Amino acid sequence: MNLKNIYSAMGISGEIYDYCTGMEEKLAERFREIDRIAECNQLKVLSAMQQCKVSEACLVGTTGYGYNDIGRDRLEEVYAKVFRTEDALVRSQIVCGTHALTIALFGNTRPGDEIFSPVGLPYDTLLEVLGVREAQGSLKEYGVSFSYCDLKEDGTFDFDGIRAGINERTSLVTIQRSRGYSQRHTLSIDEIRELIAFIRTVKPEVTIMVDNCYGEFMEELEPTEVGADMIVGSLIKNPGGGIAPVGGYIAGTEHCVKNAAARLTAPGLYKELGPSLGNNRLLYQGLFLAPTVAAAAEKGAVLLSAVYEGLGFECTPGPLDKRDDIIEAVTFHDPKLVMSFCRGVQRAASVDSFIRPEPTPTPGYEHDIIMAAGCFISGSSIELSADGPLRAPYTVYFQGGITYPHAKFGVMMSLQQLMEDGFVKLS
Ligand SMILES: *Cc1c(COP(=O)(O)O)cnc(C)c1O
Repeated sequence: MNLKNIYSAMGISGEIYDYCTGMEEKLAERFREIDRIAECNQLKVLSAMQQCKVSEACLVGTTGYGYNDIGRDRLEEVYAKVFRTEDALVRSQIVCGTHALTIALFGNTRPGDEIFSPVGLPYDTLLEVLGVREAQGSLKEYGVSFSYCDLKEDGTFDFDGIRAGINERTSLVTIQRSRGYSQRHTLSIDEIRELIAFIRTVKPEVTIMVDNCYGEFMEELEPTEVGADMIVGSLIKNPGGGIAPVGGYIAGTEHCVKNAAARLTAPGLYKELGPSLGNNRLLYQGLFLAPTVAAAAEKGAVLLSAVYEGLGFECTPGPLDKRDDIIEAVTFHDPKLVMSFCRGVQRAASVDSFIRPEPTPTPGYEHDIIMAAGCFISGSSIELSADGPLRAPYTVYFQGGITYPHAKFGVMMSLQQLMEDGFVKLS
């Protein structure tokens, strides 16, 4: 059977197949560049594993206190090498990205300090951590305040605003690399380098943290290679390669990592405790796969952008734009299209493809969200997924696909659903 017939048997109409594969052919050059970066990063990860002498003994786990867990300790060395940092904390006990960011922030601030964001308000779930939205146990309750300044209208840094926003109490600057659920663009490594250099001229001793969620392995360099003191991320996004079942990481200076470890375990215990349980092999294997998995997801995002831009929808980034995370945003200006799109993505899932997603309130988020997620790892957004917060301008965020053919199928099925629901016509 030819591919078109196989897709047809899977519910994709001939016209959608022709349209999407036509778009794909135009992206060959773009895909080659993505593969080149994946190749660089694959070698970076492999080299770190070899230098750290990862051995079969590292792949088994410990229980209880987790003393002398050589697999866990060696994995943290590997992360530190990959991200060019002094140290790293990589743990299954970190339950998600928000948790990793929380221990990094709580660990590295003290009462009376101020945290400053030079790139606008951070990701939704952090608003409660910071106390921007009232929440029991927030940093605000501990006497740590927060301030921020937005990017300028044209998306560039507001250097005057940043200079004015950093004061004698500012002890930590937080920079979110990815756009998250916002309309701004994702920061490139060059922009992060420029921003950090500027902040150092204003206050050299301030701790600079980058929320690296969704950004890992998108470029040849990571934020810690252009001046950040620490980066923080989730293992059910890029660096877990779709294999890590849970976890988060903080990589940075020894000082920053120890501060975070004091919050994850306890002062005095730091990194010594924390059993890896059965997860070491999965965390190693996930990191090993991460560069090509992130590339597969990135290609899916590029294809989605080309397909929907071709139909006249607003897509950011555009298909040929430089991109620095795996997220593609399509703005529909209509909640019905957001729901139809997500239902299409769900139909393309490996697990739970028969479920029809509905908008629901979600902990940490202010608006109802409709999510398409049929994943091997619950909630994993390196796997094919889409989320749309039901608020104007009704933008849907598409991400993931641990293989490119699956991401491509997700793109096609989203369009198939929009056609079946009567929202889109081809030709
Ligand atoms: C995903 C994400 C987080 C953390 O989210 P979790 O769901 O808690 O893992 C934080 N910041 C950004 C930019 C993210 O994309």
